[in-house]
Amino acid sequence: MTPVEMLTLHHLRKTPTRLAILKYLQTAPFPQSENDIHKKMQDSYDRITFYRTIQTLMESGIIHRIVADNTTVRYALNHCTSALNEQDADHVHFFCTKCGKVECMEEVAVQPYQLPDGYKKEECNVVVKGLCNECAKKNSAEK
Ligand SMILES: [Zn+2]
Ligand SMILES: [Zn+2]
Repeated sequence: MTPVEMLTLHHLRKTPTRLAILKYLQTAPFPQSENDIHKKMQDSYDRITFYRTIQTLMESGIIHRIVADNTTVRYALNHCTSALNEQDADHVHFFCTKCGKVECMEEVAVQPYQLPDGYKKEECNVVVKGLCNECAKKNSAEK
């Protein structure tokens, strides 16, 4: 699905910032931080527009954010954009404490927590911290 099709599906206007962010997230192999996106957009980057755009895209369920720690927020595309099925966006994220990489582990689902009556879930952020496969390999090679 192209960024234009994603916005059409969610009845959103195709603004240059929305298209630029979606295009970039789509080609990035891993979730990206604001800084990564800023670098990519260069002069067309504007902080207020960026946050407004991220907010809109999150509310529509096109992207999600991963809060790995207080200083590390990354954004990634949802892979359920075609089905309009926001439930399967809940997957585990992995944060490598050595190289700082954040990965979406779409094959590892977050368990549905049974909340007390009257509570309504908005997002569920499960981040596993440790060494990614590459850093773990390097680590054992060094020993
Ligand atoms: Zn790593
Ligand atoms: Zn993810």
